[in-house]
Amino acid sequence: MSQDVPGTGTAARKIDLRTDVPHSARIYDHLLGGKDNFAADRAAAAEIVRHQPTLPVSMRANRAFMARMARRLVTEHGVRQFLDIGTGLPTAPNLHEAAQAAAPETRVVYVDNDPIVLVHARALLTGSAEGRTSYLDADLRRPETILDSPELRATLDLSAPVALTMIAILQFFTDEEEAHRLVRALLEPLAPGSLLALSLVPAAAETAASVDDVAAAYRSQGIPMKPRTRAEVAAFFDGLELLEPGIVRSVHWRPDGPVDPDDTNHMYVGVARKP
Ligand code: SAH
Repeated sequence: MSQDVPGTGTAARKIDLRTDVPHSARIYDHLLGGKDNFAADRAAAAEIVRHQPTLPVSMRANRAFMARMARRLVTEHGVRQFLDIGTGLPTAPNLHEAAQAAAPETRVVYVDNDPIVLVHARALLTGSAEGRTSYLDADLRRPETILDSPELRATLDLSAPVALTMIAILQFFTDEEEAHRLVRALLEPLAPGSLLALSLVPAAAETAASVDDVAAAYRSQGIPMKPRTRAEVAAFFDGLELLEPGIVRSVHWRPDGPVDPDDTNHMYVGVARKP
């Protein structure tokens, strides 16, 4: 498939989309019940779920955390700007929908490097009239291309606080030094009072089911993955002020109702404030 995507700021880029190789965004889409995926993605997803049957549940809980976090940052912390890295395929509610439902003037910049997410970018761009939503086709490995982009500069005011959200992406960054360097590079130019929200795949030793098998299954599909311990997750928040309730499983971050207190298969999440 080769396609132009007008109106994304990366207009006229030709997309070469291989559908015979599994992609993390499309595996995730399939596991969430989406339809923007191909046979190779569904086969890879089936193989991964064979190793970790609880994965679809933890992915849906992660997605629910993302929407809840966006809403609560807007309503409880006055956030009106989001920079979301590793957006994924549109799945309602998307971050801008959750945030703009609470405050329509909220501005959101989405970033992803998957060609099929780019194909769907226009679906992500239908934000509220008062707010603004833009999509940037860029690689987290090159944070300067994100920070210096016209899309980001036209949408976000970097003199005011921004919530940097990296939801279910850092597990694909297996080198600890690199992962930290990239998070710091994006946080560095953000104003005091900015927030960092993360969700990460938990290490097997801290999980009921064997999560190392999931990492092995992803690796066998050509996608490197690194589960992390709670201490490794905490290290991403060094020098920041963790918001209540700290680093917890996704379902326990300010839930809207009762949740199972023993469920250890869910992702680690945390939100912290830059002093
Ligand atoms: N944040 C969404 C999607 C998570 S899936 C959610 O939690 O629901 C992870 C996403 O990260 C995928 O869409 C994938 O394309 C993207 N991604 C992976 N590596 C990336 C990179 N180097 N740069 C930008 N995006 C990347």
